[in-house]
Amino acid sequence: MHFLVVGAGFSGAVIARELAQAGHTVEVRERRPYVGGNCYTRRHGTGVMLHVHGPHIFHTDDEAVWTYIQRFAVMRPYVNRVKAVSGGRIYSLPINLHTINQFFGTTFNPSQAREFIQARADASIKDPQTFEEQALKFVGPELYRAFFAGYTAKQWGVAPSLLPASILKRLPLRFNYDDNYFAHRYQGIPEEGYTAAIERILDHPNIDLKLDVEVSPRQADSADHIFWTGPLDAWFDYAYGRLAYRTLDFETEVSQGDFQGNAVINYCDAEVPYTRITEHKHFAPWEQHSNTLIYREYSRDCGPADTPYYPVRLSSDMQRLNQYLQSATSSNGVTFAGRLGTYRYLDMDVTIREALDIATGALSAIESNQSPLPFYVNSG
Ligand SMILES: Cc1cc2nc3c(=O)[nH]c(=O)nc-3n(C[C@H](O)[C@H](O)[C@H](O)COP(=O)(O)OP(=O)(O)OC[C@H]3O[C@@H](n4cnc5c(N)ncnc54)[C@H](O)[C@@H]3O)c2cc1C
Repeated sequence: MHFLVVGAGFSGAVIARELAQAGHTVEVRERRPYVGGNCYTRRHGTGVMLHVHGPHIFHTDDEAVWTYIQRFAVMRPYVNRVKAVSGGRIYSLPINLHTINQFFGTTFNPSQAREFIQARADASIKDPQTFEEQALKFVGPELYRAFFAGYTAKQWGVAPSLLPASILKRLPLRFNYDDNYFAHRYQGIPEEGYTAAIERILDHPNIDLKLDVEVSPRQADSADHIFWTGPLDAWFDYAYGRLAYRTLDFETEVSQGDFQGNAVINYCDAEVPYTRITEHKHFAPWEQHSNTLIYREYSRDCGPADTPYYPVRLSSDMQRLNQYLQSATSSNGVTFAGRLGTYRYLDMDVTIREALDIATGALSAIESNQSPLPFYVNSG
C-alpha cells in the first residue's frame, strides 16, 4: 500500500519507518525546512548544540522505547538537575529535603520534614478542584507561594485558582536529597542531537521525504491512507474554532564562558517576566565550548501564526476537543497521531511508544483487509 504521513517529528518518523519496514511505500511531508518537529536540534554558530524549540531531555521507563531510540542515536547519559530562583534566593528542584531545609532554615531529617510539611499542608481541603487547592493541600501556603503560584500563573497565563487540580497530579515533594528532576530508569540526550536521530529513522528506501511542504487536508487524497500528525482542528478547517495552546518566545543571548553554571534555572516570582533560563551547552556536558548561548523563555497565548507548544485543556477547550474527536472518530482514510493530532502534551518516549502502537494497529488492520482506525490511543 501507499501511505502519506504528514509531519516529520517523532510521531511521523516512527510511523513512517514501521510502515516502510513492513514493505509499504510512504510519502512523508513536512512543512518546516527540517525534520524533528519540536525536538529539532542544530549546531549554533558558537558550536553549541541548540535545542531550537526548547530543551529536550529523553527519559523513560519503557525498555522497548529506550532500545528503539538507541538503534538511531548514541544516547549520552544526562541527569536533569533543575535550580529555582525564588524571593532572591536559589533552591534545588523538585522540592526535596535540601529545598525544605534551605527554605525554612532547618536541618530536618526525612521524617521530621515530612511531619513539618504535613502540619503546614491544608488538611481542610478534602476534594481539591483547582491547582491552588491541590498545591495548598500538598505543600502548604509557604512553598506554594514560593515555587508554584507565580511560576504557574506565568506558564499558563491564568491564576492557579482558575486552573484544574489535574495539572498537579502527584505530590511534588521528596523527603530525601534526590534532585534528579525525572524519576525514570533511563535518561539521556542523543550525542548528535534529536534531528540526526530522526533523520536516521526516516532513512529508508521506501520513504520519500519532502520538506517545506504544507499538506492541506483537501490535497491529501493521493494515498491509500493518511497519518496526520498536524493539529487536529486544522484537519477540520477549524470548524468548531481553534483549540487553545500556549506558545513560547525564546530570547537568545550569546556570551563567553559559563552564564549560569547549570542547564535549567526556573524563575518562580511573578515579577520576573520569563519562566526559566536554559543554557544549552550544559545539555551536552561531553562537549567543550568557550562561548555559551542561553534562552530566556516567555510563555503566552498562541495565535494562529505562532508555534503551538502546550495544549491548554481548560474545560472550554475540552468541550471543543470533544466535538473534534466525534468528527474524527467517524472519519475514513485518516489516522490522527502525536501531540498535535490528539491535542495532548506527550513526552518523547510516550510519543514513540504511541507511534509504534499506531503502526502495529494499522498494519494488522491492513492484513485483515480493514482500514486503519482514526485513533489507536485514548485521545480524550
Ligand atoms: C518546550 C518543550 C519542551 C519539551 N521538553 C521535553 C523533554 O524534555 N522531554 C520529553 O520527553 N519531551 C519534551 N517535550 C515534548 C516533545 O516536544 C514531544 O514529545 C514531541 O515533539 C512530539 O512529537 P510529534 O511528532 O507528535 O509532534 P511535533 O514534534 O510537533 O511534530 C509535528 C510535525 O508536523 C508538522 N506539521 C504540522 N502540520 C503540518 C502540515 N499541514 N503539513 C506538513 N507538516 C505539518 C510540524 O511542522 C511538525 O514538524 C517538550 C515539548 C515542549 C513544547
